[in-house]
Amino acid sequence: MKDASPATAPKTFYLKDYTPFGYDAESVHLTFRLAPETTRVISRIRFAPKPDAADRTFFLHGEELKLISAKIDGQAVTPELVEGGLKCEVPGAPFTWEAEVEINPAGNTALEGLYMSNRMYCTQCEAEGFRKITYYPDRPDVMSTFTVRIEGDEPVMLSNGNPMGQGEGWAEWHDPWPKPAYLFALVAGDLVNHPGSFTTKSGREVELNIWVRPGDEHKCAFGMEALKKSMKWDEDVYGLEYDLDLFNIVAVDDFNMGAMENKGLNIFNSSCVLASPETSTDANFERIEAIIAHEYFHNWTGNRITCRDWFQLCLKEGLTVFRDAQFTADMRSEPVKRIEDVIALRARQFPEDNGPLAHPPRPEQFQEINNFYTATVYEKGAEVIGMLKRLVGDENYYKALKLYFERHDGQACTIEDWLKVFEDATGRGLSQFKLWYSQAGTPRLKVSEDYADGTYTLTFEQSTPPTPGQPDKAPRVIPVAVGLLSPNGDEVRGTEVLELTEAKQSFTYQGLASKPVPSILREFSAPVILERETSNAERAFLLAHDTDPFNRWEAGNALAKEVRVAMVLDGAAPDAAYLDALEKLVRDDDQDPAFRALVLTPPSQSDIAQTLFDRGHTPDPQKIYDAAETFTQTLAQQLETSLPRLYAATTVDGPYAPDAEGAGKRALNGRILSLLTRLDGGEQAARQYQAADNMTQQYAALGALLKAENGEAQSQAFFKQWQDDRLVMDKWFALQIACAAPEKTAATAAALTRHPLFSMKNPNRFRAVFGALAGHHAGFHHASGEGYQLLADNLIALDKLNPQTTARMCAAFQTWKRYDAGRQSLIRAQLTRIAGTDGLSRDTTEMVTRILDA
Ligand SMILES: [Zn+2]
Repeated sequence: MKDASPATAPKTFYLKDYTPFGYDAESVHLTFRLAPETTRVISRIRFAPKPDAADRTFFLHGEELKLISAKIDGQAVTPELVEGGLKCEVPGAPFTWEAEVEINPAGNTALEGLYMSNRMYCTQCEAEGFRKITYYPDRPDVMSTFTVRIEGDEPVMLSNGNPMGQGEGWAEWHDPWPKPAYLFALVAGDLVNHPGSFTTKSGREVELNIWVRPGDEHKCAFGMEALKKSMKWDEDVYGLEYDLDLFNIVAVDDFNMGAMENKGLNIFNSSCVLASPETSTDANFERIEAIIAHEYFHNWTGNRITCRDWFQLCLKEGLTVFRDAQFTADMRSEPVKRIEDVIALRARQFPEDNGPLAHPPRPEQFQEINNFYTATVYEKGAEVIGMLKRLVGDENYYKALKLYFERHDGQACTIEDWLKVFEDATGRGLSQFKLWYSQAGTPRLKVSEDYADGTYTLTFEQSTPPTPGQPDKAPRVIPVAVGLLSPNGDEVRGTEVLELTEAKQSFTYQGLASKPVPSILREFSAPVILERETSNAERAFLLAHDTDPFNRWEAGNALAKEVRVAMVLDGAAPDAAYLDALEKLVRDDDQDPAFRALVLTPPSQSDIAQTLFDRGHTPDPQKIYDAAETFTQTLAQQLETSLPRLYAATTVDGPYAPDAEGAGKRALNGRILSLLTRLDGGEQAARQYQAADNMTQQYAALGALLKAENGEAQSQAFFKQWQDDRLVMDKWFALQIACAAPEKTAATAAALTRHPLFSMKNPNRFRAVFGALAGHHAGFHHASGEGYQLLADNLIALDKLNPQTTARMCAAFQTWKRYDAGRQSLIRAQLTRIAGTDGLSRDTTEMVTRILDA
């Protein structure tokens, strides 16, 4: 849309334009003289021209810097200040560049570069934050060793690597491992540490610390154990050992991301590291364990081997997400982790892949790289590695990884380097497989079957809908794990991986006594949408009998979707056979409680909307909501006599421990409680709220009560109890919105933005409110358009402070083309209003334009 375009279009960067920097940075010395509004940064960098460089332009990135002075080999120079940095005439031989700049950490609300959070200095440099600290070739392929001196009166002053010395008002650090600037970190403030230690397999003693604000010390023990487990696991599974004497983690309250893998000094959003039974739910514990592992694993996949340029982001993120998923599966339950990951993929990545923001895991262009820290780069990037592992087999996978670390340690690499390692290690060509990295969109897989005289044939047809800039797509390599069951429930063929390489392809099985029931795409072996005409009876059969736990859940999930779709379209009553199957499963105490909880978790309403849209219907959010309510109410009534027993049987006795077994039981217990609350109006939930000694149960009880519109007293009590704990308050903000009826959702969110504890400057608090609003499908998409307007108002306000978080939250509008003309025009009006805002950031401009232009 033309009228929505900004006056000057931001510059677009292309993968094909990559050229190396003409100089090596041999060493970097930085001195920081800390002051909240006038920090001085003095850099001394040894540069050497590359003999074979095609382009010797000496351009250093720099944004929002006040240049005080610049010198080359001790002589003052006057660089030319240009858009985004500076240029300077430099010698043709190695030289020393020195610059002094002034920056304003206290005024930095974008939280990129050096900023202040609760009087603590901290940094966030990925992707392009270092250029807000000093002039530098701020690109991941420039790697150097950093020596850092920090001067200030903060009690604790930390940077990357090993400590070199410290005294009154100063501290010095040296990181011996060459790294790109995005891995630079500095933290200074009044901090206390929770110490630990780890001995690596070769006997290196590593000092570990989790640094927090005074008062948070009691929330560090779980994170410390998770760190030790991660270090051990990476040695055991990948043979990778830690390489410094010290590993520091710091918790920061104001942080745009989850956490950041800076070399030897990981900086964490406090929500992703601080945990205690009283303040954290089981889900929080699991997430913290996974994120600590993720950032630690980056030490090899990201830091030692980094990305050549930001188009290659999925090289480090896809692989590290894949590794952290393996870790969680090993620490907890493999099938449960897989099911959780697929639920998340469908909730976050599928809408992206099927809407205006669709892009390949390795994008080929961007205006603002911060907008590509997406589910496609991370989660689909991990799925691609999972497929690769399945195709080459476990043994070849680890052989290829060994070669990757041997060949590329210390380098900045590309997806081509990554795939070449697999080709060399296995002898297998991967040119077609590479399409997964360059094509956007979720492939659809149509399946048909044929049976005659003992021969069973499965025929697959693959196609991928057009995505922005990619109208046609070639067939991909798709590994489809298939097993066959006999009609009596026995497995007649174990899991076998069928390799699709063509647009249409058949596979036959011979010697079968009767027509089998196929279990297709076991373990969700590829991130595709399966399109197959299946009867609900067959789905119910697989829910009862499939030997693959993922596909058992998937059968139940597909059935749940069909039942809801029928309710929405035809006003049908909830399917009785499905209710019976659910009842049987829920009451079967031989089944894993975590699995039963997952089967009881309804498909998301957004997922139902997408399913309806894919089938040519216009989804009505209110009808989808009503169908979900009717279904759950009917289920509660059907289970009425069993609920008290089930509630008692799934209540965990003894002291709280955040282990997988207890968490699974509590998850089921929470589902049962929410059903029970529909029948008793909240009696049991009120008792549970009163008795709870851990956040999981307190939160579950409060949620059930708020949903029943009978939790005002408990909500006030919760506030009183936890008002000084920022992380618990985030839950309180979010839960009230999530549990509101659709017609009250926007008003509830609006009222909370006027609460004294609401803050635009704290990304966690902003996300608590507006993430909950956008996540409430029927509430956000309420026909009044109030949800759209409220979000747009607040995005416009936030953009002036924090463009990165604003831009990411614009994605709430990405599914707008699914809905009716009325809603579309309401959303278009809000998007156009955002796009037309004076001084809108590059981040938000790019996102809004992409969403509108679809
Ligand atoms: Zn990461």
